[in-house]
Amino acid sequence: ETDPPPWELEAEEDFEAAAIVFSENPYGPLHYKIPPALEGIVQPGLRVRVPLGRGNRTVVGWCIGVEKSELPARALKDILAVTDEDPLCDARLIKLVLWMSHYYQAPAGQVFDALIPAGVRSGAGTREQVFFTPAAMALDDAQVDALPVKQQSAIRQLLISDKPLTAVQIADLAECTEGPIRELRKKGFLRAETRRVLTASGPPPSRKNFQKGEIPDLTGPQAEAYEQIRDAVHKDQQHTFVLHGVTGSGKTEVYIRSIEAAVAQGKQAIVLVPEISLTPQTRHRFQNRFAEVAVLHSQMSAVERHYHWQRIRSGQVQVVVGARSAIFAPLPRLGLIVLDEEHDGSFKQDKAPRYHARRVAYVRSQIEKIPLVLGSATPSLETWHATNTGHATLIQLNQRIADRPMPHVQLVDLRTPGERTGGAISRPLQNAVKETLAENGQVILLLNRRGFATTIQCPSCGHVVACPECDMPLTHHRDGGKAVCHYCDYQIPTPPWCPACRFDGIRYSGLGTQKLEVEVKARFPGAKIARMDSDTMRRPGSHERVLAAFREGELQILLGTQMIAKGLDFPNVLLVGVINADSALHFPDFRASERTFQLVTQVAGRTGRGDRGGRVVVQTFSPEHPAIQAASHHDYQTFAETEMLQRRKYDYPPLGSVARIIIRGPVEETTEAFADTIVEKLELTRDKLAAEVRILGPAPPPVAKIRGKYRFHILLQAKDSTSLGETIRRAVAMLKTNSKDEIQFVIDIDPIDM
Ligand code: ADP
Ligand code: ZN
Repeated sequence: ETDPPPWELEAEEDFEAAAIVFSENPYGPLHYKIPPALEGIVQPGLRVRVPLGRGNRTVVGWCIGVEKSELPARALKDILAVTDEDPLCDARLIKLVLWMSHYYQAPAGQVFDALIPAGVRSGAGTREQVFFTPAAMALDDAQVDALPVKQQSAIRQLLISDKPLTAVQIADLAECTEGPIRELRKKGFLRAETRRVLTASGPPPSRKNFQKGEIPDLTGPQAEAYEQIRDAVHKDQQHTFVLHGVTGSGKTEVYIRSIEAAVAQGKQAIVLVPEISLTPQTRHRFQNRFAEVAVLHSQMSAVERHYHWQRIRSGQVQVVVGARSAIFAPLPRLGLIVLDEEHDGSFKQDKAPRYHARRVAYVRSQIEKIPLVLGSATPSLETWHATNTGHATLIQLNQRIADRPMPHVQLVDLRTPGERTGGAISRPLQNAVKETLAENGQVILLLNRRGFATTIQCPSCGHVVACPECDMPLTHHRDGGKAVCHYCDYQIPTPPWCPACRFDGIRYSGLGTQKLEVEVKARFPGAKIARMDSDTMRRPGSHERVLAAFREGELQILLGTQMIAKGLDFPNVLLVGVINADSALHFPDFRASERTFQLVTQVAGRTGRGDRGGRVVVQTFSPEHPAIQAASHHDYQTFAETEMLQRRKYDYPPLGSVARIIIRGPVEETTEAFADTIVEKLELTRDKLAAEVRILGPAPPPVAKIRGKYRFHILLQAKDSTSLGETIRRAVAMLKTNSKDEIQFVIDIDPIDM
């Protein structure tokens, strides 16, 4: 006997099914039947084990709802088991997951996995414990009265308790041993259930600094900023504020006051900072002002993460300070979200789901109906644009605290032979370092070495070889000696001499921090030097050690990559040197100018923070470039306006949207052929939807082969994100991946690292 097909069955009236999503195909939601044993147990936000596909395969999926099914009960398969005792996610976070899954085109199960820390999912640091509740017979007074006195008192403790208790807890309350409890269990008075409980305890809440911090009186502009945000915290509605304040203008103090206003109302806050391990000062400032702070950082163990997550969810924590993923902190009474240094690239996750914490924060603030504060000295153009289109309120802090002047910036033109020394440090920078050391000041030297891309720049005139189609710098590919545009795949043989000035000896690769360290040691013998980059800072705590030594004055020169440009506040830094401001400028990315402006402005902000002032020396081949000019005058406004005109030319963000598809495979030909197929499907969909979407590529990225896999990029660009997203969604649905070719593709919506 076989079942009739589902459409011949009658739908049952009051029948509810669980909607389940997965991290693998099919992504769902699929409906499953809740068997009687699991009724009332299956809830949205917990994981279940279900059969999937043909055969006996079972997988774990996430329940996103219990709802009326269109299908009749008999057509559905049963849920086999629940994996979690309690939901790991409330209704609002589920809403956020579903938005992310749709917008970033990632399976909802994969988004859940990003949202709920691995240590929470695996139950790190927990063990099983037996809990008791009264069984039916315990409710019968006569039966209880007939029990020996110790057993009576044990069962009465359980009857008046509003939650299940362990044997130890009952014995404690009834002042007896566990013997009477064992008896009660045997006689059937107790119902036992096994639950997982967290046994690990994390670091004790660090109250030692609490209340030690001095609370400064707000300056006039700080007070105005604070009052606006506080008023929004008191209303239950979404509102975005952009706090644009020059470096050292006291933005952090404004965040702290605003959070205090939320905490005073019993609400909680999330503060996102780029790479918390790099900014111990920021962390301490929050710990000085709030009793219950949870700091989430990348070097935490799974058990520690689980511990903090439980504390946060229980409602004990007032403020969560952390990097990108802290945006998912399950605070039950969230009242305010702050993104400090909102322009920072680390807010974008570079693996699936490829979300941007700023956009996610905005959506979460809408779901929670709370204000969002985006703070920066150099707001991203996306954020700037939002203030110009009425989507956000701009608040400006134009003065440094105590009216300290902004540091003077001197540009050194590296094309001038007289300025060069044969090394990386020009004559003016060398002199400035010597003078600073003689005055017992400290020096920060920035060498930005981003990615692997090797642009082709003439060391004599600074000319950069660019694509005639896209105006993007070409990338030198060593194999084959080609210069390639990684937006549109335009190619030429790498020119042996400079096309602009005919200088022969055009160079492809820059200089590393290691080489710079050797040079600095040779030029300034006797100075104590530390290098900070991802090579020297691998060990946990190494940043804090170097920064502490720098603060104590044990080091005179700190050199490193952009990680030293962020957030440091050392009054004795009298000189900041930028070795090559152009290294970010000529990266094949439409955000190259913006990055250059941000980097130079941010690193310049590390000086002039004390009473002794400060100065900045910026070495560049392009001193006339608008981004470098604007940064040298601390002029954000002019930079933003000029850059906006550039973006408008090609409808690049924030005026339009971009997305990227990355295709990876072990064989170059089949991988490229697959990339071509995607382009065909995209073109087909675009034409059907009448969507104005530009499709560029496939082209090899700066590094075309990583770990034995060939890579191709397709870049898409459109005026509006909806038609762009829909074009990709429908085109991808038409693709058939052939698993034997081992080709994978990744969709990256709003990529930031091109
Ligand atoms: P930003 O975050 O804008 O770079 P900070 O909040 O770090 O600025 O402030 C810069 C310095 O000024 C810090 O050392 C901070 O403690 C101090 N500061 C901030 N606000 C005040 C104030 N109202 N009065 C005195 N000092 C302040
Ligand atoms: Zn091109």
